[in-house]
Amino acid sequence: MITLKSNREIAIMQKAGHIVACALEAVEKAIAPGVSTLELDRIAEEVIRSFGAIPSFKGYGGFAGSICASVNEVVIHGIPSKDVILKDGDIISIDVGAYYKGYHADSAKTFAVGTISEARRKLLAVTEESLYEGLKFAKPNNHLSDISHAIEQYVTSRGYGIVKNFTGHGIGQKLHEDPMVPNYGPPGRGPILKPGMTLAIEPMVVMGSGEVKILSDNWTTVTVDYTDSAHFEHSIAITDEGYIILTTKKGGEFDV
Ligand code: MG
Ligand code: MG
Repeated sequence: MITLKSNREIAIMQKAGHIVACALEAVEKAIAPGVSTLELDRIAEEVIRSFGAIPSFKGYGGFAGSICASVNEVVIHGIPSKDVILKDGDIISIDVGAYYKGYHADSAKTFAVGTISEARRKLLAVTEESLYEGLKFAKPNNHLSDISHAIEQYVTSRGYGIVKNFTGHGIGQKLHEDPMVPNYGPPGRGPILKPGMTLAIEPMVVMGSGEVKILSDNWTTVTVDYTDSAHFEHSIAITDEGYIILTTKKGGEFDV
């Protein structure tokens, strides 16, 4: 069931999104060769808790971290560890969720560690751009899969692969709500978008086929061909005119 949120609920989610954006910004500042992903986790958790919020992922299904920290061929769900030390030239996807006054916000970005190759730089650019291509279709009366289709078209036409085993999702009082938001498929399918829908849109893009496997820790999801992967995500709300991004620092203006 898709729940439509009131303006007040959306304002709370914007505040949660502000907290997520602040945590991502703090993590970005700390990313450097020699830093462990556990240290990034500690920084994000500190920022989230400083607002009186809770890291959405901590304990979710037994997940140990406050963030997911996924390096190079790790697509998503990398568990923060003192043993994963960033190296110059790596790329790292950081996924952050915050739970504030009963509502979640969820956002991810892939960052460069030091100086990265041109191939990696392009992967990051195409993945981020694909998110905004999808968002062009985030408006009332469009079908949900219009977003999915736009993302897939943008990515595959540039020669990259889409990870299909994981999708975006509705978000609100629960971290994962209906509907699922695939990053592929034909347009004109799925629910009709309505004002008050809140969705996490999150393309996961790879240099290879897009096939993934989950390692024996039951979380870490890697490309089967060990090609690089990038992940960009925003939580959004559908409005009368189109959409607003919830996971930006702008939500800090709201007093909820
Ligand atoms: Mg996420
Ligand atoms: Mg998500």
